[in-house]
Amino acid sequence: MAENYDLIVLGSGPGGYVAAIRAAQLGLKTAIVERENLGGICLNWGCIPTKALLRSAEIFHYMSHAKDYGLAAASISADLDAVVKRSRGVAKQLNQGVTHLMKKNKIAVHMGDGKLAGAGKVEVKGDKGSETLTARHIIVATGARARDLPFAPADGKRIWTYRHAMTPAEMPKKLLVIGSGAIGIEFASFYNDMGAEVTVVEMLDRIVPVEDADVSSFLEKSLKKQGMTILTGAGVEELKATASGVSAKIKTKDGKVQAGDYSHAIVAIGIVPNTENIGLEALGVKTTKGHIDTDPYCRTNVKGLWAIGDVTAPPWLAHKASHEGVIAAEAIAKELGNKDAHPHPMDAKNIPGCTYCHPQIASVGLTEAKAREAGYDVKVGNFPFIGNGKAIALGEVEGFVKTVFDAKTGELLGAHMVGAEVTEMIQGYTVGKTAELVEQDFMHTVYPHPTISETMHEAVLGAYGRALHI
Ligand SMILES: Cc1cc2nc3c(=O)[nH]c(=O)nc-3n(C[C@H](O)[C@H](O)[C@H](O)COP(=O)(O)OP(=O)(O)OC[C@H]3O[C@@H](n4cnc5c(N)ncnc54)[C@H](O)[C@@H]3O)c2cc1C
Repeated sequence: MAENYDLIVLGSGPGGYVAAIRAAQLGLKTAIVERENLGGICLNWGCIPTKALLRSAEIFHYMSHAKDYGLAAASISADLDAVVKRSRGVAKQLNQGVTHLMKKNKIAVHMGDGKLAGAGKVEVKGDKGSETLTARHIIVATGARARDLPFAPADGKRIWTYRHAMTPAEMPKKLLVIGSGAIGIEFASFYNDMGAEVTVVEMLDRIVPVEDADVSSFLEKSLKKQGMTILTGAGVEELKATASGVSAKIKTKDGKVQAGDYSHAIVAIGIVPNTENIGLEALGVKTTKGHIDTDPYCRTNVKGLWAIGDVTAPPWLAHKASHEGVIAAEAIAKELGNKDAHPHPMDAKNIPGCTYCHPQIASVGLTEAKAREAGYDVKVGNFPFIGNGKAIALGEVEGFVKTVFDAKTGELLGAHMVGAEVTEMIQGYTVGKTAELVEQDFMHTVYPHPTISETMHEAVLGAYGRALHI
């Protein structure tokens, strides 16, 4: 007999498992279906294991620069196997944490491949055979996977996706990173710090192209100073695995084709949504470029069917997926009559983005160029870390904070940062933006001293010609 639920969540990434927890908190009888690992890409193959790797690289970097701090660290070396082992251990710990959270919240976990089998029905094929589950509502949270180069699919040996790059069998000596979005740049930073010779190729005219242009050019200079080769406005036209590595042909900015040999290549050119073979077509679910269309409450065009996270529109970030999970669960509970559920619509302009390269970058809202394109008359503030006492004390003077305000209303349109710990600081501006604070509110806020966060205050003051320490 089919098991009956209020809600079935298909996929247990940060979107799906958070949706399931919130639904259970609101009293819904909830099931989650997962074919691989509870926690999805984020905990097992994405955000968390990469941060564990980057942490090792960061410590290695500081050990290599011990002298700058009056210390000596003799004969330091990196053991890649041990670094990867630590990262996999961290992923496992969090995967077990999600297993515990499912139990604690009495969420039924069905391991297996799930497929929508008509309105309100999910068929699950697992190790123990096939079962059909029914529910009043279904959330699709099947996420996404790495996009391959059409002419050079990843082989896991020489041509890697992020999964291979996270569990390398050997240390790359000469690494080609194709794509300079967050994933490409984080791996470039990790392997560069670990001692590889790294080349980054970016098709667009600047690296981290979704960020503010000032951040892109600052980061490019910094990465080059660290020894990386950066080719922008360049495309990989041929990539072939050989017995000893990969050979690549790269068309550079000037139109010339440059041939090069590398030991390994990481392809980080974007993602493909997991929307095939899950029964979307039969239900007539609308998609755009493969990603499911949703309204700000995560409803699809099919009644009772919702979608969240990477399988929907960008930004493809874990915190966006989780936030949508909460919104969808609350909207469903409200539809089922729960008076304590008060869903709020998703507001994409207040979703921060962070890249944990070295130096880190973080941003929220519009870039200066996008704000101008949108017709705003802007006031821009820019404050360098070299003007901040804590940054100097930490030996972290490389970085800046930039703010973009609407000159008419004082609304913070965007904030952009590069430097140490900025991924921890961006939330200050995100809270302010969400609460629709204006320049006066940021100016009147007291920032603790000494902290790097004082640069956030100065960047606001700077937009109005009032910066104090420069
Ligand atoms: C290397 C890397 C680093 C990243 N770093 C960050 C970061 O620092 N910060 C950040 O915000 N984001 C980061 N991301 C992005 C982040 O991982 C994703 O945005 C997030 O995981 C999306 O969550 P999701 O719930 O939509 O889907 P996913 O996490 O992809 O989970 C989907 C789940 O659904 C399951 N599934 C799919 N189809 C089926 C099916 N038919 N039946 C059953 N189960 C199914 C999958 O097995 C998977 O477990 C990173 C991604 C990568 C690859």
